[in-house]
Amino acid sequence: MKGEAALRARNESAWLLPNDGSRTNHRLREDMRHHDLDDEVDLVVVGAGAGGAVLTQRLARAGWRVVCLDAGPFWDPDRDWVSDERGSHGLYWTEPRQIGGAHPVPLGSNNSGRGVGGSMVHYAGYTPRFHPSDFRTRTADGVGADWPISYAHLRPYYAAIEAELPVAGEAWPWGDPHGYPHSPHPVSGNGDVFLRGARAAGIEARVGPVAITNGRFGNRPHCIYRGFCLQGCKVNAKASPLITHVPDALAHGAEIRADSHVSRVLVDDEAGRVTGVTYLNRGREYRQRARAVAVAGYSIETPRLLLLSATRRFPDGLGNDCDQVGRYLMVQGAPQTAGRFDEEVRMYKAPPPEVSSEQFYETDPAKPYKRGWSIQTVSPLPITWAEHVVAQGHWGSVLREYMRDYAHWATLGSLCEFLPQSDNRVTLADETDRHGLPVAHFSYSQCDNDEQLLAAAQASMEEILRAAGAREVMTVQRFAHLVGGARMAARPEDGVVDADHRVFGVAGLHVVDGSTLPTQGSANPALTIMALAARAADRLIAGARSGLAHQAAS
Ligand SMILES: Cc1cc2nc3c(=O)[nH]c(=O)nc-3n(C[C@H](O)[C@H](O)[C@H](O)COP(=O)(O)OP(=O)(O)OC[C@H]3O[C@@H](n4cnc5c(N)ncnc54)[C@H](O)[C@@H]3O)c2cc1C
Ligand code: SF4
Repeated sequence: MKGEAALRARNESAWLLPNDGSRTNHRLREDMRHHDLDDEVDLVVVGAGAGGAVLTQRLARAGWRVVCLDAGPFWDPDRDWVSDERGSHGLYWTEPRQIGGAHPVPLGSNNSGRGVGGSMVHYAGYTPRFHPSDFRTRTADGVGADWPISYAHLRPYYAAIEAELPVAGEAWPWGDPHGYPHSPHPVSGNGDVFLRGARAAGIEARVGPVAITNGRFGNRPHCIYRGFCLQGCKVNAKASPLITHVPDALAHGAEIRADSHVSRVLVDDEAGRVTGVTYLNRGREYRQRARAVAVAGYSIETPRLLLLSATRRFPDGLGNDCDQVGRYLMVQGAPQTAGRFDEEVRMYKAPPPEVSSEQFYETDPAKPYKRGWSIQTVSPLPITWAEHVVAQGHWGSVLREYMRDYAHWATLGSLCEFLPQSDNRVTLADETDRHGLPVAHFSYSQCDNDEQLLAAAQASMEEILRAAGAREVMTVQRFAHLVGGARMAARPEDGVVDADHRVFGVAGLHVVDGSTLPTQGSANPALTIMALAARAADRLIAGARSGLAHQAAS
């Protein structure tokens, strides 16, 4: 593929991003370019996470004047992070939100982050691609939705981001078979249990794919296998935009303003186009002028901001003329099953992401349900392990006994593809936050297909653990990975943005984060969000050349 080869060549020559995270950021921040509030910059990006940071980096490299605003701090891993479960709560988005529906989804530590780097600062590090089927589930399986783009549109961007993070793993046989730029990591006790049990059960499992350096990468050291990936990797072995794309964005002239909570996207009602944003920094309100705005605040905060930015011309919020903002928000069902072994496993002595299987990813025509699930090692640390035990109803001396027995347990997690549903949505609540802004209300209910997937996924994990020799198994029900809420579609009646991430009906407004996903597969989403952002940047750059970049999608 010609485009793919060109992207690979560009990636190999210029876009490898070796750096040592915190130290590089210190130096670059001292020299960071600063724009006046009255300057009309080319683009304001709201949120420096998976989508926002990649978009900022790409456009800065293309010479655009970009200001990226993030509500949270500019993290310094040396200073701010600790290798301790309890001490890491500052990494999470814990501003108030309301939840409801038949299956309310608890929000906070497990599903969103704040600050420069976004949720990937404390994500696990799994970086699988979506399968080609994920882009056309409506046509292929009669459920979910078809995307307005196909897997082939994203393939070169997947390869580029995998090289930039970089990703380590075995040759991948599922979906679109592909290899990874770095070889797989050695596995620990938990990974060994998975591989052993899967082999005995006739299930195929592979090592990876993880965005964790296997060997030194530039100035980043190799992983030291201490297992604190979900607490923010203090040594910078695990990739996140904070240590990959943000330093490169700064080096190419982007301005990143931390502690800047965007409260409103500003629109000129007469012209029907964006003019900038207002944001709050240490209690004061500021206004940044811009020719274009890209919202990348994560699946809850992005629809909330679009709704909060209502005007006379757009009384129901921006991009919401067809009542689509906030709808089709998805979570993956994420049950975790633990098994007890006579020998010590010591699952904490490695990164939680090590081994995975996508054998059950696709629809099996022999089953009554559609779509599927993936299985991965998860390795909870002690507090999360205690929650797992308490969820079984154990307390007091029994709980203490399970905690003492911690070294003997191995834990697997599944990601089940819950289907997009119109009523699973974000709206504005009557409660307000500390800035006086209405908080998000997130309503969520599972459908029959979701329930069937959960039961099948649990059975597959129990089978693997028992085949590996577990004498006791126990499962906790969880959710993971919010996506959707401002989805991509061919028509404004079906979504909020077009295939180029332009918001329908509002010129100069874009959404470039996980909100735009129409389906979620059973893959972890960060790599896909970054690949989409890299593609969106190319579309913007091409649009600017043709004069179409900042026109409204219709
Ligand atoms: C515990 C955990 C484990 C995970 N593990 C994995 C994994 O192994 N693999 C994987 O692929 N994915 C994983 N994820 C999910 C992944 O991190 C997210 O899907 C991804 O980061 C979402 O990208 P995003 O750009 O949509 O939002 P984010 O990366 O969350 O970025 C949004 C940013 O916007 C900022 N923001 C929000 N509102 C505003 C506002 N109004 N003004 C200014 N800034 C704002 C936030 O501070 C944040 O920095 C995990 C997530 C969590 C929480
Ligand atoms: S296990 Fe490796 S990637 Fe995870 S926190 Fe430790 S050094 Fe970082």
